Amino acid sequence: MSQTSLSDLIHNPSCLDDYDPNSMPVNQARKYIRAFLQPVAARESVPLRSTLGRVLAEDILSPCNVPNQDNSAMDGYAFNADDLQTEGETRLKIIGTAFAGNAFDGHVTKGTCVRIMTGAVMPTGADTVVVQERVLAEGDHIRFSHGPKRGMNMRYAGEDLKLGQVVLPTGHIMRAADLGLIASLGIGDLKVYRKLRVAFFSTGDELASIGQPLEAGQVYDSNRYTLHGMLTRLGVEVIDMGVVRDQPELLEQALVEASSCADVILTSGGVSVGEADFMKQLLEKLGEVVFWKIAMKPGRPLAYGKVGNAHYFGLPGNPVSVMVTFYQFVREAMLVLMGQPNPAPVPLLSAICTDSIKKLTGRTEFQRGVLYPDQDGLWKVRPTGNQGSGILRSMSEANCFIVLDETVGNIEAGATVQVQILEGVI
Ligand code: AMP
Ligand code: MG
Repeated sequence: MSQTSLSDLIHNPSCLDDYDPNSMPVNQARKYIRAFLQPVAARESVPLRSTLGRVLAEDILSPCNVPNQDNSAMDGYAFNADDLQTEGETRLKIIGTAFAGNAFDGHVTKGTCVRIMTGAVMPTGADTVVVQERVLAEGDHIRFSHGPKRGMNMRYAGEDLKLGQVVLPTGHIMRAADLGLIASLGIGDLKVYRKLRVAFFSTGDELASIGQPLEAGQVYDSNRYTLHGMLTRLGVEVIDMGVVRDQPELLEQALVEASSCADVILTSGGVSVGEADFMKQLLEKLGEVVFWKIAMKPGRPLAYGKVGNAHYFGLPGNPVSVMVTFYQFVREAMLVLMGQPNPAPVPLLSAICTDSIKKLTGRTEFQRGVLYPDQDGLWKVRPTGNQGSGILRSMSEANCFIVLDETVGNIEAGATVQVQILEGVI
């Protein structure tokens, strides 16, 4: 696969025995696209807070142990377990107090203990903490029976992170917990890959932009808005190039402009049967692009390739198809281009389908569904009604895709189906 070039796919498809551009399985299309992706290489240094959602361009090594010193996990008394009485009570003299941020500077000797707060450094000589609820304090002594085992109620130096350990690897996408983790190491700036630049435009003579009155036969351009949302969620730099009419000169101009300023170009519309020939000729002239009919519903037509140095995705025009193809192909490709070597696939989970679904084998369907727990806490999924590829309400209502792969036929109500949760992805 990695030896195959785009040019082979376009000009010598017969050299690949399992390649059928007119019935391309979803997973095979994903694999082909993956083989052509070159991640961005440029890096920049960014203050920690601004790294949320960015992709690490360096391994982060721990410059210290976390915690830095052994300390107490509880409020209680620190002592040496040699003093524990195997039978009867243990009695110890309190010789001082250790606070978080204000250590006890003496030494815990035989028969003594130090009152200690959570997070306070363990005094020398002590190796165990008894929690305060377990002891009877009488003046300057404590008593307790059934004491803790040696080493209990302590946090050890380096138990969270060890000096020199790889804390986060290159390619990791920074999340909220990671910001805290890196802060716990005292690191203020990180090297991340530069943001991917993604230019997009909608094609179609029938499209009106928001703010214009809608003439007969026109529809408002919604794809640019869903694309804006999906791309922004991915954390790329978006370049919105508006609506381009179905005219070769205008489309050529837009594609050339986009390829000069972006790493990725996304277009919607113009790749379906009837319109594709037109785009095909243009893209043949400007780059190397393959046109596939994917064995899926919605979102059958898909064009992928290069225009100049930019990766090009020609998405179908139907509003639901745009979103489905984006999530099944573009999102993962984009993550690779952003510097994540192996993006985790969106997990497939099982749920009980409340309704029957009519479905042909031989293609993958992505029905829109609402996943919810019933009264018994059992996860069920309800299809969102009309599944037409123009019914954007179905995407807006949905919180998951019901994924019915090529092998699956009609579904009975009550059957178990696979779902892909959209929350956190969309
Ligand atoms: P196409 O793929 O260009 O043949 O378009 C398929 C369908 O999607 C047609 O009904 C178009 O009007 C509609 N469509 C195409 N682009 C958009 C868009 N940007 N916003 C809303 N609908 C669109
Ligand atoms: Mg069109």
